[in-house]
Amino acid sequence: MVIENTFAKQAVDAIAGLSPYQPGKPIDELQRELGLDNIVKLASNENPLGPSELVKKAIQNSISGVSQYPDGSGYYLKEALSKKLGVTTDMLTLGNGSNDVLDSIARVFLSVGREAVFSEYAFVVYAISTQSVGATACVAKANAYGHDLNAMMDLVGDKTAVVFIANPNNPTGTWLNADDLEAFIRQLPQHVVVVLDEAYGEYLDQETIVNTVDWLKSYPNLIITRTFSKAYGLAGLRVGYAISSPDIADLLNRVRQPFNVNALALEAAETALQDEAYICKSRELNGKGLKQLGEGFDKLGLHYIPSVGNFISIEVGESAADVYEKLLQHGVIVRPVAAYNMPTYLRVSVGLPEENDVFLSALEKVLQRV
Ligand SMILES: *Cc1c(COP(=O)(O)O)cnc(C)c1O
Repeated sequence: MVIENTFAKQAVDAIAGLSPYQPGKPIDELQRELGLDNIVKLASNENPLGPSELVKKAIQNSISGVSQYPDGSGYYLKEALSKKLGVTTDMLTLGNGSNDVLDSIARVFLSVGREAVFSEYAFVVYAISTQSVGATACVAKANAYGHDLNAMMDLVGDKTAVVFIANPNNPTGTWLNADDLEAFIRQLPQHVVVVLDEAYGEYLDQETIVNTVDWLKSYPNLIITRTFSKAYGLAGLRVGYAISSPDIADLLNRVRQPFNVNALALEAAETALQDEAYICKSRELNGKGLKQLGEGFDKLGLHYIPSVGNFISIEVGESAADVYEKLLQHGVIVRPVAAYNMPTYLRVSVGLPEENDVFLSALEKVLQRV
């Protein structure tokens, strides 16, 4: 859908053809409209625990510094990341959320006449970033809602400049195993940059996951993106980063706005990295929540896509938009995923146990009536 706009003819073609992202209503406004005391928001895959206490203190301590520009190099955060990840700081690119990094990747490697390959049902930002620079999106058919690496490889050709892979993927929660993924990367032509988006990596079983950062030694065309928005509980501050070869980082840093990560975000992210206990607690809570929601859906006889993220997409039928509206009336906000071509699904983020219960009982009531 293209919005009527008197200046659309002056805009460059790629932008004139973009549809704006539709944000939800602010929670306070919804609360006022519905006259509800309590709203349960399970719509944006945020950490239901709120920020860690350490982070809150760090932010309070740095408030008096906000009259000054932030450190444009992100020196201390990069130092902390470099120690944690075992990479040199010249392999890091900081972003105003990892969306910002994804956008920079598109600006560096994509333009009119170049192609980006990604999967059906993949994270929407790949399509937006690709289109906004006038490049062509080549979308591979999914396999049971997950990325089909063979179908993606079939689309890789001379014009392919970037391949985007979300692991786990949002909104499906699907996951590729490390062997298949590495085999795919190994087969890719060296001129193709492969973006491995690990926004939900902290939720995976840390004992069994493969450390993909090690792959950077073998694949200089690999970019791993990560974020503080999900398990680290800092979505509102906007900070994410890329890990890549120094050469790719150098290019990304050329297009990065000099002060793209704000002062509070830098401080909060650096502190968040030190709070291992918070991450462990978040991971544990999420595991229990996934189980709680899965069992709830089983009881209601609903199909859902098994997820390793902090959210689940459930099939509620033709009337998903209706179910979404009715859940709102019960004070529960979830995310419709019709824009992902999943019109019969709703995505729910894992909340606190009591929030998951509120959602499940609202869902039960709503489904009885539609
Ligand atoms: C949430 C999310 C991101 C992170 O977005 P930020 O800009 O870092 O908040 C990146 N990729 C995927 C797949 C996501 O779901």
